[in-house]
Amino acid sequence: MSTAQALSAPQNALVKMGLSRDIDLALHLPYRYEDETRIVALRDARDGDTVQVEGTVTDNHVAYRPRRQLVVTIDDGTGACVLRFFSFYPSQQKALAVGNRILARGEIKGGLFGRQMVHPVCKPAGGELPQALTPVYPTTAALPQAYLRKAVVSGLARADLSETVPAPLLPQFGLQPAWTLREALAFLHHPGPDTPLAALEDRSHPAWQRLKAEELLAQQLSQLHSKRERDRLRAPVLRTRPGGLHEQLLAALPFALTAAQRRVGEEIAADLARPVPMHRLLQGDVGSGKTVVAALAAAIAIDAGWQCALMAPTEILAEQHFRKLVGWLEPLLAPLGRSVAWLTGGQRKKERGAMLDALASGEAALVVGTHAVIQEQVQFRALGLAIIDEQHRFGVEQRLALRGKAGSGSGGAHDGEGANEAPESPGPLEPHLLMMSATPIPRTLAMSYYADLDVSTIDELPPGRTPVVTKVVADSRREEVIERIRAQVDQGRQVYWVCPLIEESEALDLRNATATHEELAAALPGVQVGLLHSRMPAAEKKAVMALFAGGRMGVLVATTVIEVGVDVPNASLMVIEHAERFGLSQLHQLRGRVGRGAAASACVLLYSAGDNGRLGETARARLKAMAETGDGFEIARRDLEIRGPGEFLGARQSGAPLLRFADLASDTGLLQAARALAPQMLDRFPEQADRHVQRWLGGKSEYLKA
Ligand code: ADP
Ligand code: MG
Repeated sequence: MSTAQALSAPQNALVKMGLSRDIDLALHLPYRYEDETRIVALRDARDGDTVQVEGTVTDNHVAYRPRRQLVVTIDDGTGACVLRFFSFYPSQQKALAVGNRILARGEIKGGLFGRQMVHPVCKPAGGELPQALTPVYPTTAALPQAYLRKAVVSGLARADLSETVPAPLLPQFGLQPAWTLREALAFLHHPGPDTPLAALEDRSHPAWQRLKAEELLAQQLSQLHSKRERDRLRAPVLRTRPGGLHEQLLAALPFALTAAQRRVGEEIAADLARPVPMHRLLQGDVGSGKTVVAALAAAIAIDAGWQCALMAPTEILAEQHFRKLVGWLEPLLAPLGRSVAWLTGGQRKKERGAMLDALASGEAALVVGTHAVIQEQVQFRALGLAIIDEQHRFGVEQRLALRGKAGSGSGGAHDGEGANEAPESPGPLEPHLLMMSATPIPRTLAMSYYADLDVSTIDELPPGRTPVVTKVVADSRREEVIERIRAQVDQGRQVYWVCPLIEESEALDLRNATATHEELAAALPGVQVGLLHSRMPAAEKKAVMALFAGGRMGVLVATTVIEVGVDVPNASLMVIEHAERFGLSQLHQLRGRVGRGAAASACVLLYSAGDNGRLGETARARLKAMAETGDGFEIARRDLEIRGPGEFLGARQSGAPLLRFADLASDTGLLQAARALAPQMLDRFPEQADRHVQRWLGGKSEYLKA
């Protein structure tokens, strides 16, 4: 088939679902089964049972009350049952003509005297019954179940399912030898009629164990492989030096580092002093003080004669970093004739040109900015350290792009005290990579899942913070909340009000920030109420932020643009409107904007219930978690519980494909076995390891490199 030939709609849907290879189809497993292997006598069918019955049609008519419907009665000799169809075709009516013998499958409602099924699946009786349970696959509207079933059957027949786990290693996995991948898949797609469904549902069945073990092994192999690849790369050796910039910066800081900051700082310094690229995640709760740790790492790199780049996801955040870093580092850099550069999308051409020149020549020791930092025209003289803040908000490609900007790599731009000995095997040097995140990965997850990533954790807040009291309040009590705002402002405090969207969306019926802004401005005469949203021009945003930061503006209504980084210690109240629409970690980040000063602070989570007057279960669980704890790690743990690890990690956040079958929380035994097995398999059976990863991850394994 030529590639130009158009795919049919279901074929397209298959591709969209990532089911293009035979092996992908073979690994696409049912989420439940239907039992069409047996026929149940109507006499034995109980209310609520899903059953298949066979009977003769004794009546067929269209009723008009209470709604137009096709009403068909069947009798199987042991009892009768009414089949109701609220939508039906003439052809269906005909197939269910009086006297026809049919099979009907559906849920039985009612008992002895009034059994019925609504919209059962019907077909003529007399065919052969299947030998196995019928699989029901996850699918989309564009891909009919019957089409998908056929595709899976042929995928399963064609796929190469030969054993990849070497026989000598199998026992270590504790798997039952009877269940090879081929057998496990054949079974899970078409289990025999006597299979206990519970073991399939909770995935404890040995066939499931086999699949989960294989999946985890693929994950571990892939991670270990990229770790080893990276260990082969060379990076500049960046050592601290007595009396150097690092020491000078420490001495100049207006506060003492917390013990946690000192510890993670040492971990980073140790990485930087090695000739392999650092690949470290620095995690710490909102406000735990990651920026200064990043600045200290930058000082080490600069002192060794290299440049540093810091990239942040939003302009506001980037600018805040810029101001902080300029404040800390410029006094130390200026005497050396070095500067701090700034790059952003909205910059004027001339200014941008000057920044680019300074980076290319090496005069700029450090650049802070948004995505603009990774644009093609940006050339470094010698990039030694790349730092990414809020790393989960960047895609893998963007992280890779920053890493790829190593510059000439021919050594330090300025005298580096011989810190950069020529590498043994000269090749381009890679910069060290430090990623930062305030959305902590629960420790167990980080340690076991990211075979590939070193993690440093700041588990302590700087002294003098006050805990934030969190209240969950129905939107019907909005007036009271506005009263509370007035009280805060009267005491000279400031207030954030966060809205989820900037424009009214009919579908979601969210109040927009503009409307709320008008409402608050009207309700709070004499108070300056500002508005900040992502569609505003950068200069306007800047002006609004300056007014709020300067204390002149009492209330700031904002969309989530303030999510990260804003630091206004006088703000003591945060109201989050439609809190039920936000994710848990996002709520936690937002709340981190208050409680930064000495004043008692509060966070009000306003929620609006749905049409049925009730909050969804997940939303309720999230708001409850927010009210109960202020600890970012506990929040992350709850988030994991509510969402499950697959979603928690997310392809974007982890750069790793999601686990489809294994559950990191409950399959810890298998995970440990996979971890132990991966290095042995890579060392002793590299060819099988490669095949295994290809089979499970296909092209996706590329992504693990970032
Ligand atoms: P985050 O980890 O959320 O990025 P920041 O780096 O923005 O946190 O730090 C939050 C605030 O705490 C900043 O104003 C910062 O200067 C201050 N800070 C950082 N470390 C300390 C410390 N050891 N003692 C006191 N204040 C600190
Ligand atoms: Mg930060």
